[in-house]
Amino acid sequence: MQARFHAIWSEITPKLQEALLPYIGNDDFPAMLTAEQVESIRQICGFDDHALALALLPLAAACAITPISHFYVGAIARGESGNLYFGANMEFAGVPLQQTVHAEQSAITHAWLRGEKKLVSITVNYSPCGHCRQFMNELNSGTQLEVCLPNRPRLTLADYLPEAFGPRDLLDAPLLLDSVNHGYQLDTCDALVLAALDAANQSHAPYSQSHAGIALLDEQNQVYTGRYAENAAFNPSLPPLQAALILMNMSGGNCQSIKRAILVEGKNSHLSQSNATESTLTALGCTKIECHRF
Ligand SMILES: [Zn+2]
Repeated sequence: MQARFHAIWSEITPKLQEALLPYIGNDDFPAMLTAEQVESIRQICGFDDHALALALLPLAAACAITPISHFYVGAIARGESGNLYFGANMEFAGVPLQQTVHAEQSAITHAWLRGEKKLVSITVNYSPCGHCRQFMNELNSGTQLEVCLPNRPRLTLADYLPEAFGPRDLLDAPLLLDSVNHGYQLDTCDALVLAALDAANQSHAPYSQSHAGIALLDEQNQVYTGRYAENAAFNPSLPPLQAALILMNMSGGNCQSIKRAILVEGKNSHLSQSNATESTLTALGCTKIECHRF
């Protein structure tokens, strides 16, 4: 079992421990459970989907990286596939707080990067902040997304974000988690550059059209990609680097072991992720950063 789960393990009920151990007991546990695994766990524990997501929150929160706040937030996103995806907040010492990732953003982006096409619910251990409510309103689930908290009634995003401003106030374009392929190309055989290009081609930037993607290579030669997730309200947009760091963290990787990073974005884009990406990566100890432009 990964070290990050050791301290919290004793707080999990024995029945859930028994049900989870075949999965979480492996060092390569990817902080997600497939629909089949969920079904098996539910049968052993007698939980429904809601109760299981709540019971998993302490394990999700154990994935948080919080050098500034030491405040642990966990989230579980449930996809229409039945898969469950862990999420946790991430903070980065040495760069502005705007680079922070919230647990809901983490769980949602984690699901997106693993190919989930739509979310049914998100369960979180603290009430979602305004920033996250707006971030969630970008999803193709719309305001019907179920939002669940411990000891609170099950509500929808519409309850948490009344009189919402969202994507449909601006344009009729794909929503977050919709499948897209922007078709950008680069003349290269470099696999890491192509991985970043593929991420850019699946990024969500309907307002600026400034599509961007990133690929990170770590010391174990694992590759993690991230896609830019733009928001109708602009500020809650999630940079591609943060998306890749979410996947890296959830997969059990070490965000301070990145040995090469490739950012891919457009030559004529209105926005550039380059400076923010470089400053955050430098703070994480990575200095080999390249920017390729289509
Ligand atoms: Zn938040």
